[in-house]
Amino acid sequence: MLRIECPNCGPRDHDEFRYGGDASVVRPVHDDADFEAWYRYVFVRENPAGPHREYWQHVMGCRQWLVVGRDTRNHEIAAVRSAREPRA
Ligand SMILES: [Zn+2]
Repeated sequence: MLRIECPNCGPRDHDEFRYGGDASVVRPVHDDADFEAWYRYVFVRENPAGPHREYWQHVMGCRQWLVVGRDTRNHEIAAVRSAREPRA
């Protein structure tokens, strides 16, 4: 069982959250005509064994989107921040 430290609600079981995908993917600018950039943004994902940044939404709580730093090998969570905060 994962315990995610929501910045608004405190520590909660991961059952209260919905996984939202890879938070390391950067969306191309709106008028970018590069097909390859859009293809990578929509379809190509890394599958790392180790630290990974992920979006999670606290659907059973404050409904805020979070960026969670989780190690995919042992599910250890290193950091949680609001997705509204600028990228580090
Ligand atoms: Zn919350």
